[in-house]
Amino acid sequence: MLFSEVADVFNRLEGTSSRLEMASILSEFFRTLDPEPLRNIVYLSQGKLHPDFYAQELGMADKLVLRSVAFVSGTSEDSMSDLWKKEGDPGKIAEILIKNKKGQMSLFAEELTLDTVLKNLTLIENSSGRDSQDDKMKYLSQMLRYSNPIEARYICRIVTGRMRVGAGSMTILDALSDAFGTKDDRPDIERAFNITCDLGLVAETLAKGGVDSVKEMKVTVANPIKVMLAERLPSIPLILDRMGGICAMEFKYDGIRVQAHIDKDSVKLYSRRLEDMTSNFPDIAEELRKRCKAEKAIIEGECVAVDPKTGSMLPFQAVTHRRKKHGMDKAVEEYPVKIFMFDILLSDDTDMTVFSFEERRSKLSDTFDLSDKVQLTEMEVVDTPEKGEEFFSKALSMKCEGIMAKDPGSIYRAGSRGFLWIKYKKDYEESLTDSFDLVVVGAFHGRGKRAGKYGALLMAVFDDEMGKYRTVCKLGTGFDDAFLAGLPDMLDEYLSKDRPGTVDAQMMPDVWFLPTVVLEVVAAEISLSPIHTAALGIVKEDAGLGLRFPRFTGRVRDDKGPEECTTVNEVIEMYELQNREKN
Ligand code: AMP
Repeated sequence: MLFSEVADVFNRLEGTSSRLEMASILSEFFRTLDPEPLRNIVYLSQGKLHPDFYAQELGMADKLVLRSVAFVSGTSEDSMSDLWKKEGDPGKIAEILIKNKKGQMSLFAEELTLDTVLKNLTLIENSSGRDSQDDKMKYLSQMLRYSNPIEARYICRIVTGRMRVGAGSMTILDALSDAFGTKDDRPDIERAFNITCDLGLVAETLAKGGVDSVKEMKVTVANPIKVMLAERLPSIPLILDRMGGICAMEFKYDGIRVQAHIDKDSVKLYSRRLEDMTSNFPDIAEELRKRCKAEKAIIEGECVAVDPKTGSMLPFQAVTHRRKKHGMDKAVEEYPVKIFMFDILLSDDTDMTVFSFEERRSKLSDTFDLSDKVQLTEMEVVDTPEKGEEFFSKALSMKCEGIMAKDPGSIYRAGSRGFLWIKYKKDYEESLTDSFDLVVVGAFHGRGKRAGKYGALLMAVFDDEMGKYRTVCKLGTGFDDAFLAGLPDMLDEYLSKDRPGTVDAQMMPDVWFLPTVVLEVVAAEISLSPIHTAALGIVKEDAGLGLRFPRFTGRVRDDKGPEECTTVNEVIEMYELQNREKN
């Protein structure tokens, strides 16, 4: 298969911001493909060679890519640096230069195949050691030499990790159900993705065996499962009401969530964003391995730092020392950690996600010999507000953030946020509304004391039905000088020349960012807004919802991906509750 066919589809995707149209372009293409190329093309459309949780990345530096482009197109260093200043995108630069070169000579007799691209990308990925830079340039140049301009654009974007054709996982799932099933099959296909985190595998399975094969896919060790998430409510009586008068209440520990995949002698730990965290918690991995009585298991728990002298739990900041890339041996020694397990998703060959919370909890406790480091979350069945308040106070006295209420009869809904789990935190009591995890989508240049820096940020929530980020506030409070100075470092790699297709905004910031960075924000109130687009037209015609007096809490939620931020539905729910409480 020629790579130009694939690049043309990417080009068509980039030409539209409509999710419906993207899905239809992809579904038409997917239908024509054999299972194996389909799997690889699904990964490539997201700028990858493997599923998201695969640790190794292509990540070639821009400079290196530009050197290869200059070499293949015979361009001088000066012209390259002018182009870089103007375009800031190695893909666009490669496209322009290859186009110019092709204008001069029509030499490229050989055409680039998908196989060659996959082979060379794999070689780039595997290059390591002293000559790796030269090797990577060599493999890239080999591809560019036979590329047409559009192919060159996408090859350079893939190797630099900036694919950005705008087709997110949900759009690809839409396309897959359209190509290989019907609308009614969409939930089964999405569940297969949620329990494997591998879109390529789901696509290949569909193309080989249809929807029936996908329905048979099960949770497996080494394929992380998308985590189940909690909604929030502002009081314990409301939680009990919502749960039908009875719930299982657990402490909500202030640490880092890990999903442990245990297989006899090997353990892998994944973060909720699917990063491999095994090397950050080697002590926990080893202890889980020793304490697990099953041959295979997948469990979830919260890793919390403890005071080495007193053994009492420390706040979240302490455990973040374990998120570093380097110096882990020292961090392991200085910041001892315990895991509080709260769920089990696989036990030997039994897929536990389809069992009730009660059954899972009992299986979890049967599967482990507990120790000081490996414990179960504190849990109590609560059926009155008084018992709930008492349990909440106990949680706070143990330095927990609050409580998690769980519906005893509920299955584990991978990748879904709902009222089967409800969180209630201490900070909900302290501000009029509770905290929000918002995504940065833009910034405004500062004035006065903040001149030359970003002065304020445009923040958004996620509309998970539309797959779009909708704005809720302009945030300029709660930043200290060091944070303001560090903003360009944190954000500039996500700069976007125009408003990204996934962002829905009426306010125009000075610069746009691809929705990536999540910040925790508190606010005094949620109000109707003529300018913000969250829930636009839902609560009131011609008005969205905005946050009044938003303030950054100082907490960057780098454990959350943009799609895990606060959703439009949560904001609507909170707005309605707030108004109910006022009246
Ligand atoms: P939040 O990050 O505020 O959305 O809260 C959800 C997170 O709370 C989960 O992803 C876990 O990391 C954490 N957590 C702490 N204790 C528990 C618990 N007992 N059950 C489930 N999640 C918990």
